[in-house]
Amino acid sequence: MSVLFPALHAASGNEAVRFGDRALSHAGLAAAAGSLVPRLTGAGRVAVWATPSLETAVGVVAALLAGAAVVPLNPKTGERELAHIVADSAPSLVLAAAGERLPKALGGLERIDVPTAGPAVEVPAEPSAEAPAFVVYTSGTTGPPKGAVLPRRAVVATLDALAEAWQWTGDDVLVHALPLFHVHGLILGVLGPLRRGGSVRHLGRFSTDGVARELAAGGTMLFGVPTMYHRLAEALEDDQELAKALAGARLLVSGSAALPVHDHERITAATGRHVIERYGMTETLMNTSIRADGEARPGTVGLPLPGVELRLVDEAGGELTAYDGESVGEIQVRGANLFTEYLNRPDATAAAFDGDWFRTGDMAIRDPDGYVRIVGRKATDLIKSGGYKIGAGEVENALLEHPGVREAAVTGEPDADLGERIVAWVVPADPAAPPSAEELADHVANRLAPHKRPRVVRFLDALPRNDMGKIMKRALHDV
Ligand code: ATP
Ligand code: MG
Repeated sequence: MSVLFPALHAASGNEAVRFGDRALSHAGLAAAAGSLVPRLTGAGRVAVWATPSLETAVGVVAALLAGAAVVPLNPKTGERELAHIVADSAPSLVLAAAGERLPKALGGLERIDVPTAGPAVEVPAEPSAEAPAFVVYTSGTTGPPKGAVLPRRAVVATLDALAEAWQWTGDDVLVHALPLFHVHGLILGVLGPLRRGGSVRHLGRFSTDGVARELAAGGTMLFGVPTMYHRLAEALEDDQELAKALAGARLLVSGSAALPVHDHERITAATGRHVIERYGMTETLMNTSIRADGEARPGTVGLPLPGVELRLVDEAGGELTAYDGESVGEIQVRGANLFTEYLNRPDATAAAFDGDWFRTGDMAIRDPDGYVRIVGRKATDLIKSGGYKIGAGEVENALLEHPGVREAAVTGEPDADLGERIVAWVVPADPAAPPSAEELADHVANRLAPHKRPRVVRFLDALPRNDMGKIMKRALHDV
């Protein structure tokens, strides 16, 4: 029996994965993946051309059963970045769906087409728990992507912790529309259901209609990023079917970036349901979450997951021991969920750890009962202005509550007087009639505090976002 996929060899005829109108049962997936195992045994690192397809699911499972480490590749990555990832991770071959055209950067690699059927075979004994299961590249939000080496025990630890916190079982049917080359879409969204013996239905492309249809047709859980929940919140204004479908789901989960409080509130108002936020990283898999049976609290990411230790550390390196609801510190975590290293980056790895504690680079506050409130990233989201430290997220949340604002991002810019000044980047709801800078600044100052007033407001047609919908703040100053 597979340590990672104990349910796979139960020869269950239940559906395991569905992409559009193509599906495989657990038994079918075990057979298709098993037939590839002999070719992947001893392959070391294996790249997977991670389109949203059955082939990606089969290829990843096959590589893991064979004891190889998977390097998922984003099919939308440009040649240069792809060439960097291939050179850095040095895979021995690439798995792809038959007929899929691969870019030049992969030209030097042996290619194996992934089957979606095959004779069931005995799989070899799996390697040790410390052996790498994945090399996943970070999203590149704050700098060039780094390859995080994730051991098999980290995958097991995170999926089992989520199962407990979310009461996730083999009866769950996950509705999924995320890409498959990051932790969220691949490890949580595909391996999660497989490990539980449940199923996942992937929409191919996100649409609010697709979500409504699949939830109404038996989906019990939805995983999404904030941009998806934002679109659901907008569509809910005049879509009763969607409201009914979301109201009937067991669990709506958001992660990868902060879900603005305004979107939380709109979804709850229309459906009576709370979106559950969880907080994780490529390097740590999942750290905290609101529990399925816990109190939802918009603006927070809940409590540390079972097996995860979390502490906040101030600038002097001291641990914040009191949960006072206001002191800000860097989140550090420790547990079986952590990666082992950044591939080929010993200096970056050393800098990321304080002993066995991983420095996340994310800043947070803890509510008196321990709930974690992320303020933002140390590098880009903590603005030091006039002797105050201001979290960008709070100002963004306030801006988003203004009816004239569709999207907002807040950064700091050097200022001779204040040290840094608050800059608001705003996509207006109506480009023909944007609110005035003065009005927006007053709106924030009235809602929060005078020192949180944006000094500069810049209007844009759209915010620069990556494939996960994350706002690329480092690109803002270049627009
Ligand atoms: P890079 O490390 O390359 O700059 P990245 O940090 O965006 O990119 P990921 O590992 O995909 O790459 O993202 C992890 C980060 O996403 C976390 O450090 C945190 O800043 C953010 N994040 C994830 N979930 C949440 C959440 N629920 N609320 C707020 N932030 C979140
Ligand atoms: Mg990061």
